[in-house]
Amino acid sequence: STMPPLLAAIANAGRHGVLVKSAEALERLAAADAVALDKTGTLTEGAPRVADVHPIGDGGRAALLALAAAAERPSEHPIARAVVAAAREEGEEPAEARDFSSVPGEGVWALVDGEQVAVGSPARLLGGPADGAGDGGAAHERARAQAEALEEQGRTAVVVLRGGRPAGVLGLADRMREGAAAAVSALAARTGRPPVLLTGDAPAAARRTAEEAGITEVEAGLLPQDKVARVRAMEDGGARVMMIGDGVNDAPALAAAHTAVAMGRSGSDLSRRTADAVVVRDELDAVAAAASLARRARRLVL
Ligand code: ADP
Ligand code: MG
Repeated sequence: STMPPLLAAIANAGRHGVLVKSAEALERLAAADAVALDKTGTLTEGAPRVADVHPIGDGGRAALLALAAAAERPSEHPIARAVVAAAREEGEEPAEARDFSSVPGEGVWALVDGEQVAVGSPARLLGGPADGAGDGGAAHERARAQAEALEEQGRTAVVVLRGGRPAGVLGLADRMREGAAAAVSALAARTGRPPVLLTGDAPAAARRTAEEAGITEVEAGLLPQDKVARVRAMEDGGARVMMIGDGVNDAPALAAAHTAVAMGRSGSDLSRRTADAVVVRDELDAVAAAASLARRARRLVL
């Protein structure tokens, strides 16, 4: 065809399921020589389901799910959607919560029937064994042990607190995205460096998922600003980082990276707006294909 190489490459990437936003974006995609990627919703499908329900104290699984779902209902986080769905499957319609707030990478807080309820990361809500000494007591210990056991199985564990006390622990299971392992090995081969997994999830759960995808470099327990710091550190070390992410929590890291790639279908609007390229099909290996196309087009132009 008579189409200029950059435009042809953009069109071709589109056919592979990656929308590249501009010629400059394609340039950045071609120049990337390191890859950082998010776990939940990027490496995995990001449509987790509640697989384990462990109430602590009185009240059964339906009561625990109803409590958690009431606090989670206003949240758009995939974990929140899974918790609400699980409650409805138990026949529980989540109650109207008040004073809802959420912290990316941590969890949600709300007043449910006049009681303060929190649902979120065990590390943030229970603290480490060191700072848990004295306060919390047996229920905290049980929740922490329960969460650790779930994480060892590769589950994402979230803790439910009512009035500051653990009411239970939920385990969420997510599926690996189609083409994840292929994308990881193709991107590793292209950049000459192993892709790095950046995740807010706990280390044990992250390691399990990483192994399955052939990822050896894992940075877990990260808050959104920690993901930014990791990307900056890689860039300061001379790398031009391609950050692949999907969530609101990934937007700052996407903005900090040389090249930003967002997951289109399940991704947040914010991550899509921040990105140079958007993966509109569900296969992650489309990213590797688009990067190769960009590289080839640049060679033709320069
Ligand atoms: P990732 O980096 O893997 O995409 P996030 O940064 O979105 O994950 O979340 C990190 C952790 O924060 C989750 O594993 C969970 O423990 C907690 N979390 C975040 N949002 C919520 C929520 N709405 N409900 C419960 N837990 C949450
Ligand atoms: Mg994510």
